Amino acid sequence: MVLLLARRALLAGRRRLPRAPSPPHAPAAARLCSGAGGEAAAAAGGDGALLRHLCRKVRASGPVTVAEYMREALTNPAQGYYTRRGGIGESGDFITSPEISQVFGELIGIWYISEWMAMGKPNTFQLVELGPGRGTLTEDILRVFNQLSSVLSKCDVSVHLVEVSPKLGEIQARMLTGGKMQPSPKDESAYMKGISKTGIPIFWYRDIQDVPSGYSFYLAHEFFDALPIHKFQRTEKGWREVLVDIDPEVPDKLRFVLSPSSTPATENFIQPEEMRDHVEVCPEAGVIIQRLACRIEKDGGAALVADYGHDGTKTDTFRGFQNHKLHDVLSAPGTADLTADVDFSYLRKMTQERTTTLGPIKQREFLKNMGIDLRLQVLLQNSRDTATREQLLHSYDMLMNPENMGDCFNFFALLPHHRLVHPDKKDKPESKSPLPPVAGFNELLLK
Ligand code: SAH
Repeated sequence: MVLLLARRALLAGRRRLPRAPSPPHAPAAARLCSGAGGEAAAAAGGDGALLRHLCRKVRASGPVTVAEYMREALTNPAQGYYTRRGGIGESGDFITSPEISQVFGELIGIWYISEWMAMGKPNTFQLVELGPGRGTLTEDILRVFNQLSSVLSKCDVSVHLVEVSPKLGEIQARMLTGGKMQPSPKDESAYMKGISKTGIPIFWYRDIQDVPSGYSFYLAHEFFDALPIHKFQRTEKGWREVLVDIDPEVPDKLRFVLSPSSTPATENFIQPEEMRDHVEVCPEAGVIIQRLACRIEKDGGAALVADYGHDGTKTDTFRGFQNHKLHDVLSAPGTADLTADVDFSYLRKMTQERTTTLGPIKQREFLKNMGIDLRLQVLLQNSRDTATREQLLHSYDMLMNPENMGDCFNFFALLPHHRLVHPDKKDKPESKSPLPPVAGFNELLLK
């Protein structure tokens, strides 16, 4: 697609205040792809309340599934990691692409504008982000929307953030509204609302189901990997579910065990043709992607999912991070981020062909197609001091180098079928002009 406007946004020289830059050549701080779950790391921090709660639960009703353990560890309303800590950023437990470089969010902002244009510039759209972290990605996207405000001037844009963590919700609100937010009345589905610094209304929800229906662009960056997974192991007696139990040798220490027989999950989630010996399945991700697909089919829009993951090939990817180091997933629950690679083949299957899917493609390919090299050049030209230039090059390397985030992060999109195939193409193939290719998944043509 010929996108003069994208070129305008990429060439805009402005650089936002640096985000706590890492020294060049610092060790990669992102939660990178490989790493086996359960690798030893020091158990640290926390007052042990969540561990005691889980141990009581196991004593009362037996071992819990890994999904239940992960849900409690991350989003328990009082003690969960995201509820209490949510340590994203240099000073936290892990860092994400939008926190590394403003360019990342800017290119994603351009992606949405490009899709909005390709879909005939509807006069209203909602930007819906799942798991917005510190709100940095939305902030960068809104800056691009503001730079291109003449293009979007006749479009009514609103932002809808789905966030379970009240603590992160507040951080997002401070970042995006400058502190001007208010709780919503009890009868409204949003729990908080505010106005962005550029005048766009923003609403917060706990669940995607609470977001009003309507033409929407969805975004999920490092969201699906935080949802609870079930784990399964092939044995001589058939598939068994991996469960979390108390170690009989050490009080209040958790360990993995296998279910003595099959469980409802082994029956429902393992495909007969499965070849792997160990499988992770995230049913909650399946339900959410199905909701997005239904909403896009009914109301229009698109979804962009970016995460580390695989296409149905990996096995044991469950791991924990604390202070940018691998952390034993069963140790000190609630004090570390827990994560598992996203299975994009499962997400694709769960759309049930309600939408077209594109990808997964590697982050470095997507960003290159979106014009990251041009954007880097402009920022380098406009920066005078060596430290800033080094920092820009370092963040580019973090995002693009296959050894860092370039290869293990992937982009995946849901689009209405008519976005890629004319509905009446079969009847009169010659009568229609070609549909514009989808930016990022194809090269963005800048003229
Ligand atoms: N997208 C951000 C943050 C990723 S961390 C970034 O890339 O920087 C995961 C985010 O998802 C956090 O904001 C966390 O609080 C949120 N989250 C985790 N589980 C959730 C759930 N079940 N529903 C809604 N948000 C969730």
